[in-house]
Amino acid sequence: MTALNNYLNEIKSAVLTTLVGMKITWKNMFYESVTIQYPEVKPILTDRTRNRLFVNMDDCIGCDQCARACPVSCIDIETVKSIPTEDLGKTSNGKKKMLWVTKFDIDFAKCCYCQLCVFPCPTDCIYMTDVYEFSEYDRDSLIYNFATLTPEETAEKKENFRILQESKAKPEQPPTVS
Ligand code: SF4
Ligand code: SF4
Repeated sequence: MTALNNYLNEIKSAVLTTLVGMKITWKNMFYESVTIQYPEVKPILTDRTRNRLFVNMDDCIGCDQCARACPVSCIDIETVKSIPTEDLGKTSNGKKKMLWVTKFDIDFAKCCYCQLCVFPCPTDCIYMTDVYEFSEYDRDSLIYNFATLTPEETAEKKENFRILQESKAKPEQPPTVS
């Protein structure tokens, strides 16, 4: 008799458990979904979402402030001073450009997307974009080169500056007396 009672109790428990589960399922079927079918459906990003950075090199003055603010040192900038005969123009907010930016690399494998590099920029030329899908198989592919000068142009700028420095270092010749 005890075995039969146990058997019936187990059936009762199984039916009750199923009913409780179905009650929760049916209740939640009428709530608005909070998940999306990513990647087919993209999430809606808020204004302050932090994603991949972009640098508008037309406005970069090579001041290095972004690199100095970076807590993980993932921004690598190299510059060459322009010579007096070169006019690099101005940025869109009117700052005169004096330096050739020969290297501007950001290693996104190291970047922690803190955005600390964005705030000190005097020309607002480094900013977060809405790009968040940029995974790579190779770590080196996550090093983005933003500098726009070709290696030949970079070599030329360096050579121009070297010649200028040399000419400044030469002692002035005394005027010749005839
Ligand atoms: S977001 Fe943060 S970690 Fe990334 S480059 Fe800018 S300062 Fe560096
Ligand atoms: S702070 Fe702005 S202007 Fe200065 S080097 Fe960085 S990106 Fe260029």
